[in-house]
Amino acid sequence: MRIFKNFVAGSWVEPSTGAHFDNVNPADTTDVIGRFPLSGREDVDRAVASARQGFEQWKRTPAPARGDVLRKVGDLLAHRKEEIADLMTREMGKPLAETRGDVQEGIDTAYYAASEGRRLFGHTVPSELRSKWAMSFRRPIGVAGIITPFNFPLAIPTWKIFPALLCGNSVVFKPAEDVPHTGTVFVEILLEAGLPPAVIQLVHGAGATVGAAIVEHPNVALVSFTGSTATGGIVGQTCGRMHKRLSLEMGGKNAMIVLDDGDIDLAIEGVLWGAFGTAGQRCTATSRLILQTGIHDDLLSKLIDRVRALKLGDGRKDGTDIGPVINDQAIKKVERYVDIGQAEGADLLCGGRRAEGKSLGKGHFYEPTIFARVKPGSRLEQEEIFGPVLSVIRVRTADEAFTVNNDVKYGLSSSLYTRDVGTAFQALNDLDNGITYINAPTIGAEAHLPFGGVKQTGNGHREGGWEVYEFYSETKVGYIDFSGSLQRAQIDNYPT
Ligand code: NAD
Repeated sequence: MRIFKNFVAGSWVEPSTGAHFDNVNPADTTDVIGRFPLSGREDVDRAVASARQGFEQWKRTPAPARGDVLRKVGDLLAHRKEEIADLMTREMGKPLAETRGDVQEGIDTAYYAASEGRRLFGHTVPSELRSKWAMSFRRPIGVAGIITPFNFPLAIPTWKIFPALLCGNSVVFKPAEDVPHTGTVFVEILLEAGLPPAVIQLVHGAGATVGAAIVEHPNVALVSFTGSTATGGIVGQTCGRMHKRLSLEMGGKNAMIVLDDGDIDLAIEGVLWGAFGTAGQRCTATSRLILQTGIHDDLLSKLIDRVRALKLGDGRKDGTDIGPVINDQAIKKVERYVDIGQAEGADLLCGGRRAEGKSLGKGHFYEPTIFARVKPGSRLEQEEIFGPVLSVIRVRTADEAFTVNNDVKYGLSSSLYTRDVGTAFQALNDLDNGITYINAPTIGAEAHLPFGGVKQTGNGHREGGWEVYEFYSETKVGYIDFSGSLQRAQIDNYPT
């Protein structure tokens, strides 16, 4: 059995606790990938102390040179794409096509970050006084605590760690307990690309211990967290109390709307991918399907035929459409919500049980599930399930569809199928989400655009694109007065 280590203070080390946990393949729980450190607070203390030293060195490295390291990281990820996709599917479960996409998102993010090293723009603006210049520029902040979920084992860490590094911060990284192998390989690649060792620290372990210790550490200046809204609330309380800079990306209950004038066949392709890709475990998964009356029955009956034909299985085997959900806890949560849906009077049209069969019995497989006649406001319709369960809601008008879309506490992504250009633009205006897709499913974000949600999905920051660099750097303003005399702003230039 391979025993993995933390990367702290420039070396691969055992955890101070001496304790480990097993990382298993969710498609076959008898397949143990390795044993990973179940670290303690002491490991976080050592990691943060080293990261502070790393910060002193890295913040002085010119941003274009920092970008050069990230370009090399992108090259190494591209070179090892197939191998990383395979190990990611083994520990996370989603099919290879999806884990290849996950690695590609990391590559795209690396190259974007590399080029940002030669921008990282500030502003130079006219001063209101003579012989005086005024400008803003960006400064590094300090040690960044990075806490990530299981569902995008490489892409999400890269969304956070690349801009954090490009801006000159050092990083203490805690990957989700279910995907520590991908996190480890990622850190190996950062080091191979030439990142100074003290600039990156990797501490494996439980969220309530290692995650909490990172968030609570007084020398961690900023925290970026992606995970559930419940955990984000705990992280947010600590950061609020300690006045830390915090980026939260949390839960979702995303809806696809199909209006009577929409392309039904296109919408069916979209909902199959949106609802059941990654076994429904995407923050942007389509978990609600809002159908206008005219197309409701036709679309639903065609959709059910397609869903019944989806093939569950090991994501590393050819022909698999849907892999397992991540662990036993996740499958039990799905089961709880299927019970809730039935108790609330929704119609279970397909699925609704664990998948059976020789090869499936060893893993956490759940049949793709569709409920119809789901009532707006019911728990099934409102709460995040994070599994392969789709709730269908019937509406009479576009306005009613928009209201149902908006009437949840989350606001990550939405989608609308229509052929009417006016309705499409109306949706962009009126849907309360960080992202709206027209004639495409609720998933499919690209690395060079801002990503994030409103309401209880986020706290106002964005990952991706140009906006994320605002979070990982501090704006500073410089005034240079070369007039040789005291010039008082707002006073000398406006004499009474
Ligand atoms: P989770 O909240 O259980 O865990 C996320 C991370 O937080 C893990 O690394 C975990 O160890 C850590 N953690 C747990 N308790 C902690 C604590 N007290 N202090 C600090 N860290 C702690 O989430 P998950 O099950 O891994 O991921 C699924 C959730 O993530 C879903 O709600 C999903 O919508 C959300 N998600 C959101 C986005 C987005 O961009 N909005 C993207 C992906 C996933």
